[in-house]
Amino acid sequence: MEQFPLPFPDEAALLVKRLEAAGHEAYVVGGCVRDALLGMQPHDWDLTTSASPDEVKAALSGLRILDTGLRHGTVTAVLERPYEITTFRVDGKYSDGRRPDTVRFSRRLEDDLSRRDFTVNAMAWSPMRGLVDLFGGMEDLHAGIIRCVGDPEQRMQEDALRVMRAVRFQSRLGFSIEPETRRAVADHVSRLSLVSPERIGSELRQIVAASFAARAIRENAALFHFLTPGCESERTLRALEAAEQTEIVFPASWADQSVRLALFFHRLGSSSQSKIQALRFSNELIDRVCQLVSLHDAALDLTRPAVKRWMAKLSLEQLRRLVKVKACLLAAQTEAKDSDRAVLTRFWDLVQQIRQEGAVCVRGDLAVHGKDLIAAGIAPGRHMGAILDALLDEVIEERTPNEPDALLRRAQELNGKGD
Ligand code: ATP
Ligand code: MG
Repeated sequence: MEQFPLPFPDEAALLVKRLEAAGHEAYVVGGCVRDALLGMQPHDWDLTTSASPDEVKAALSGLRILDTGLRHGTVTAVLERPYEITTFRVDGKYSDGRRPDTVRFSRRLEDDLSRRDFTVNAMAWSPMRGLVDLFGGMEDLHAGIIRCVGDPEQRMQEDALRVMRAVRFQSRLGFSIEPETRRAVADHVSRLSLVSPERIGSELRQIVAASFAARAIRENAALFHFLTPGCESERTLRALEAAEQTEIVFPASWADQSVRLALFFHRLGSSSQSKIQALRFSNELIDRVCQLVSLHDAALDLTRPAVKRWMAKLSLEQLRRLVKVKACLLAAQTEAKDSDRAVLTRFWDLVQQIRQEGAVCVRGDLAVHGKDLIAAGIAPGRHMGAILDALLDEVIEERTPNEPDALLRRAQELNGKGD
């Protein structure tokens, strides 16, 4: 029997064994087989079986089984973690460009593997039966190729989401898309209008954030020209490449998903907001990315008060993202100067230094608060707010020390002036 290339989870083995013991065929299939064969830890293990959903439930009686997608033949066995178990399936006609009108269960693994999108995603493995690879998936995995199972034109026509899935796997794995599949991708770009914005947004986000994004975008320019015109420029792609390199001024690990999305969208400037909103990213991600886009060109003044004002405006993480965005954009410029890079490192050094000192950046850091001013006889209200802001300015600019006595004295003076 063939060895599985990674530790095979005991739970998945147990499920396969129980199904086989009841007289059915069962395998792990799809993404987990692909990732394991590449030596990568799969994030979930999906099973495929000849058993109908009722037969699965009977074979696994005593385990916790949820009806997660009965219509499509899927139940989920919940052990330490969940396992989706789907009956071998043949997809019926596709008339909406996204989902089959009907699905039919089958007793043949071959039927199920044929409906899957790419050869590298169409392999099954079981401890009893070994690897089943009917479409040359293993060979394509070794050669680094994304290739449709069957006729690429027809497969893209059936389900337009596959256009984005092809590019996503290219971007994540660093593979090439086989020429006919690539042509089919380009030919079916406009059919993405049939796919929901959420799905498109989710795929796009993953494409842009993956390691080989620049090449994936460059080689599928038609797709990005359709989805996000203006974002596929060579400078943007060079900035994404810089995000992947180990030390572009700052560590590569700082180039998280938000940084990469900000690099991708930066040329859209203020119109990036509506574009990103239309892709239905989470509100948190939208806010982060839009803020980085709007600030990517902001000047970094190297005085301490200026740095403190940045620290008051942005969280430390977001500030770190901003300097990384700037560093990547700088690396993408042919005329980049050492002095520009030096500004970024100097700025970040100042941020670190000010943070270590625990220096005042926001009102809450002041040694006096509203209640102290009230106790000192200053009336609460808008005027008091203005006094606190003025104190904050003076402390940030290091004209007044952050000490209660000094601050209260200044508050009284300012209060007197304001009357
Ligand atoms: P990921 O690591 O992103 O989860 P995956 O390959 O597991 O990658 P899933 O979306 O979880 O992708 O789908 C599991 C499997 O189902 C795929 O490997 C593929 O065999 C099949 N599949 C998923 N979506 C499609 C589709 N749109 N058309 C055809 N087959 C698909
Ligand atoms: Mg998966």
